[in-house]
Amino acid sequence: MMDSTMLSSREGLAEALRSRDPEFNRALLDEAYRVKCETVGPEVYLRGLIEISNRCVKNCLYCGIRRDVRCRRYELTEDEVLDAARTAAQQRFGSVVIQGGERTDRAFVEKITRLIRAIKALPTEAGDPPLGITLSLGEQPREVYEEWFAAGAHRYLLRIESSNPDLYARIHPADHSFDRRLRALQELKECGFQAGTGAMIGLPSQTAEDLAGDLLFYKEFNAPMVGMGPYNPHPDTPLTRSGVPYPSEKERFLLGLKMIALLRLLMPDINIAAATALEVLDPRGRELGLLAGANVFMPNLTPEQQRRQYNLYDRKAVGGQWSLGQSLTDGKIRIGYGRWGDSLRFRKEHNC
Ligand code: SAH
Ligand code: SF4
Repeated sequence: MMDSTMLSSREGLAEALRSRDPEFNRALLDEAYRVKCETVGPEVYLRGLIEISNRCVKNCLYCGIRRDVRCRRYELTEDEVLDAARTAAQQRFGSVVIQGGERTDRAFVEKITRLIRAIKALPTEAGDPPLGITLSLGEQPREVYEEWFAAGAHRYLLRIESSNPDLYARIHPADHSFDRRLRALQELKECGFQAGTGAMIGLPSQTAEDLAGDLLFYKEFNAPMVGMGPYNPHPDTPLTRSGVPYPSEKERFLLGLKMIALLRLLMPDINIAAATALEVLDPRGRELGLLAGANVFMPNLTPEQQRRQYNLYDRKAVGGQWSLGQSLTDGKIRIGYGRWGDSLRFRKEHNC
């Protein structure tokens, strides 16, 4: 059923994504889980997610915290970030992700540099290394990437959002540039980061071929890690208001799982995150992502009050408490406590 030509062409991948055959879809997800266990192992690595601020200088047409949305803006204090990171260390998550709206002012950049150093200096449980740090803070000048890498961050997530330049242009204002985004990804690699990327799944006017192209883009970019998830509309954004149709919740959810599965088959030894956006569509969404081939899970450590204001999309449905341990007791998911859980591909390529 899973014939090898499916993975070798854009058309084969698009056809697999379009399939409505429940047997085929089930077999695809199961095969991806099997390949994951065989290649990177059954462990899931944790990254405590700290949403540092919803202030953003950008205006992406899909995003609920874009510059022009009128909402209450917050920024966590350094103590709040460090408290969240301490929780990650105590709970033996192994890593944190600092994510937020894009800002390039010097005060913000220096705050992040100080935080990286302070997080690296936090005590961890006996035998655990210092916390690993992933950043997700948008496009920055190369010098800033260098500064943050030198301070101790070692992974960076910057999604391509869509690998189709036309679709990229349709979901961003005119002052955003696809080429600049590509350059930023390249620079992150050159600065030494494990550079993760990803795209939204089920965007208005996106085709199965576009999604297949995203998968091939990850392969061509040789991404050591990928975080991709369903598009979830936010009511106050131009993309939602444009009225251009997009797939139903059910379709976006299934597409989200199938993209994870196909990517695991295409790139068996990379890290793939089970994105929070899956959970908006199904309370067990992220767990199902792990069973479809993902191996990274990001429990949210943002203080409750600010978390409610970090509305990239409408996520009222997301409870936010992480319950992986309790709900997946059937032994299919093991947690790699206290470990960085770096991408196997990256470790092989860099002998580390
Ligand atoms: N500002 C940084 C990090 C925060 S946004 C950046 O843009 O990289 C992180 C991700 O949220 C984005 O890459 C985007 O893919 C996702 N996102 C934003 N709005 C979304 C929406 N409406 N549905 C699904 N994902 C969304
Ligand atoms: Fe800002 Fe990121 Fe949202 Fe774009 S996606 S508006 S850069 S927070």
